[in-house]
Amino acid sequence: MRCEPTLAFVIPCFNEEAALHMTADVLKKKMIQLENSQAVARDSFVIFVDDGSHDKTWDVITSLHEKDPSLFRGVKLAHNRGHQNALFAGLMHALSMNVDAVVSMDADLQDDPNAVDDMVQEYLRGAEIVYGVRDNRETDTAFKRGTAHAFYSLMKWLGTETVPDHADYRLMSRAALQALSQYKESNLFLRGLVPSLGFKTAKVYYKRGTRVAGESKYPLKKMVSFAIEGVTSFSTKPLTMITGLGLFSVFVGIVMLIYTLVSVFSGHAVAGWGSMMCSLWILGGFILLALGIIGEYIAKIYLEVKARPRYIVETTL
Ligand code: UDP
Ligand code: MG
Repeated sequence: MRCEPTLAFVIPCFNEEAALHMTADVLKKKMIQLENSQAVARDSFVIFVDDGSHDKTWDVITSLHEKDPSLFRGVKLAHNRGHQNALFAGLMHALSMNVDAVVSMDADLQDDPNAVDDMVQEYLRGAEIVYGVRDNRETDTAFKRGTAHAFYSLMKWLGTETVPDHADYRLMSRAALQALSQYKESNLFLRGLVPSLGFKTAKVYYKRGTRVAGESKYPLKKMVSFAIEGVTSFSTKPLTMITGLGLFSVFVGIVMLIYTLVSVFSGHAVAGWGSMMCSLWILGGFILLALGIIGEYIAKIYLEVKARPRYIVETTL
């Protein structure tokens, strides 16, 4: 058995002023309970990452810190970099401090904090990564359920390891964090990256609730770009598929050529305006599709080569 870890909760926050007080309250109670039951060390704390919010999120974090400086810490990003980058910033900040494990969690209390008890138990038993997995999707709309399911199936088919029904609610040990810190890519998709780290893992099941306050920061547009991120960051299968499509198209072309030659020699060739136009449009479509997908990857290479910083920390508490 390991000894009780110094634990940090890492909470990315974007325009969460409405939810933060309640979240802080619940996390404080949770922390006291965990400390009293000697599941975690007494110097455990909470890191709120303000992801360039436009509302009073940072003021709330500051006042929480002033009231409870050892429990509540803050990291303020200079501008909005998105959930994944904000979370990464918090994780790396935790790593720079004296923590043994972190639990990443949303700011809206949708992830039931009581699951942390089991996560810590799994950690004590030796797991380096513990995934929080939803035991049902009742609180989601049928649309979100359907698209999420389709996405996990697509990722599996593309050969990328993800944990179905797991968002970013997870415990990571210091060792896992250290491994994660070595990934320098700027297109972050932690749900694919973390499972690719390896290590001893475990799952903890929990019921996902609804948001306590405020509204979702993941509108459809962001969800779609997140899914594209997931696919293009981890799989080159679309490129391979285009190659197959191209080969198939050439094959069809050759069959058509043979057919045309046979008709010419047997003397009943028709001036084929229709077939001309069809092949022109279909082939044009294939080429554009291929260029579009190659473009996606080139865009990624471009971004990686520039190696821009993922985020810029403005101040820390
Ligand atoms: N979030 C963030 N930056 C963003 C969007 C979201 O840090 O640009 C945070 C947000 O404050 C929350 C978490 O990411 O803590 C998950 O967002 P949300 O709850 O809105 O997503 P949903 O649960 O609706 O999928
Ligand atoms: Mg949420």
